[in-house]
Amino acid sequence: MIRLDLNSDRKTYYDILSVKKNASYDEIRTGYKLAALNSHPDKQKTSVDHKMFLDVQKAWEVLSDPQTRSKYDRELIASKLDSIPIADEINLSDAMIDKSSDDPEVLHPCRCGDCFAITFSELAEIGFRLDENGGLLDGKTLKNSDLENASITIPCSSCSLKINLIVSL
Ligand SMILES: [Zn+2]
Repeated sequence: MIRLDLNSDRKTYYDILSVKKNASYDEIRTGYKLAALNSHPDKQKTSVDHKMFLDVQKAWEVLSDPQTRSKYDRELIASKLDSIPIADEINLSDAMIDKSSDDPEVLHPCRCGDCFAITFSELAEIGFRLDENGGLLDGKTLKNSDLENASITIPCSSCSLKINLIVSL
């Protein structure tokens, strides 16, 4: 099932102030001054622009305080995770293995025509070591031995769809 995120083009406070997500306080302050100048009601006539001015004030209020900023960052991450469209689920045992390169890949076709792909070394990094046929090596090799079932979200190489790769021991 595909869940569409209707708010995906919604601007974050970082967008509103035209600063990067990891911007320093000074960069945020500079971004705020510019944005405030450009959206000031004295310079604008329409209500849309007035809303812009209020957004800028709100963005500055939240991002200028480390506490509200970190709270906002967490909310941002949560809303991003929530809006990832999950196309499908597939078991590792049903996935294709592409052994043509030195670092083999687990592949699954995406409806856009491209593939969801994750390399064996990427899987090993998160604790799943595979043999050359895509079978899981001894569960004891897992970094997290409590893990019995894992669901790994893999993005398509071309489009924004994601797939959940289910790995069970
Ligand atoms: Zn795709």
